[in-house]
Amino acid sequence: MAAERIDGKAIADEIKKEAAAEAAALKAQGIEPCLAVILVGNDSASQVYVNNKKKACEAVGIRSVSYTLDENAEESELLQLVDTLNLDSSVHGILVQLPLPEHMDETKVIVAISPEKDVDCFHPMNVGRLTSGLDGFLPCTPAGVIEILKRTGHDIAGKNCAIIGRSNLVGKPLALLMTRENATVTLCHSKTQNLAEVCRRADILVSAAGKAGLVTGDMVKDGAVVIDVGMNRNAEGKLCGDVVYDEAAEKASAVTPVPGGVGLMTVAMLMKNCIRAAKKVSGM
Ligand code: NAP
Repeated sequence: MAAERIDGKAIADEIKKEAAAEAAALKAQGIEPCLAVILVGNDSASQVYVNNKKKACEAVGIRSVSYTLDENAEESELLQLVDTLNLDSSVHGILVQLPLPEHMDETKVIVAISPEKDVDCFHPMNVGRLTSGLDGFLPCTPAGVIEILKRTGHDIAGKNCAIIGRSNLVGKPLALLMTRENATVTLCHSKTQNLAEVCRRADILVSAAGKAGLVTGDMVKDGAVVIDVGMNRNAEGKLCGDVVYDEAAEKASAVTPVPGGVGLMTVAMLMKNCIRAAKKVSGM
């Protein structure tokens, strides 16, 4: 039987619609949710990401204010801007688009963002809350993976979940969220031995390695759900994931495509975090 091709766009649209309703409710109370987006330099991929975030804000009814600093701007200028936005009560979320130019210290910048406005959930305080199982922002891409599974009716509790990739951005926080949802998690990385064997035991297989063609059909258990977080360029320059889609689809019960899968969820979950930040301020 052909695997379900999970429609990330439809799920992301649904989430943005919910966020729009919440934004309207906040506005009715006199609170206009607002996201400040800071871009440093002129990296073309970062410009695309920032534009997508601004477009999503517009669609949802979140005001976005954007700041672009020169590639050679001093780190102190960025920290000063973050500080000003921290103190601006009309701004609910602050997002500094990464990566930053090499002369800037990303950790220092992330730590400078007020944890209450850290809608990316990168601040160590928010990572700590996540680790401790406390209420707080959820990191956008990992939370998007969980939403995909829940909204397509794929149970997580009790399932064996293998995650390829242990970055602070995706793999590690996803392992925490999956554990919170009662999955039994194996977190794999470049030193994992017998990766294919570990993957073949997984009911839910998530790849976030950033390696095109890494996950082949022989690594997929019959009936597994395969979530492809990877965003790579193939030899023809086309966007592709880590998973060889056609091979995985022959074994799996459901697979997310790239494009059209997890990528769209990240921005939708960011909108949710902005609404959450604005609600917190208003005590809703
Ligand atoms: P990253 O920081 O480069 O981490 C990659 C991870 O994959 C590392 O833990 C690495 O292991 C592991 N890995 C690499 N090659 C491997 C291999 N052959 N076998 C097993 N493990 C391997 O990347 P990231 O920031 O997490 O991003 C991962 C991918 O997701 C990228 O393609 C990125 O573009 C994409 N992404 C997508 C979204 C979205 O919205 N869809 C959001 C964020 C990221 P080591 O730790 O041992 O080096």
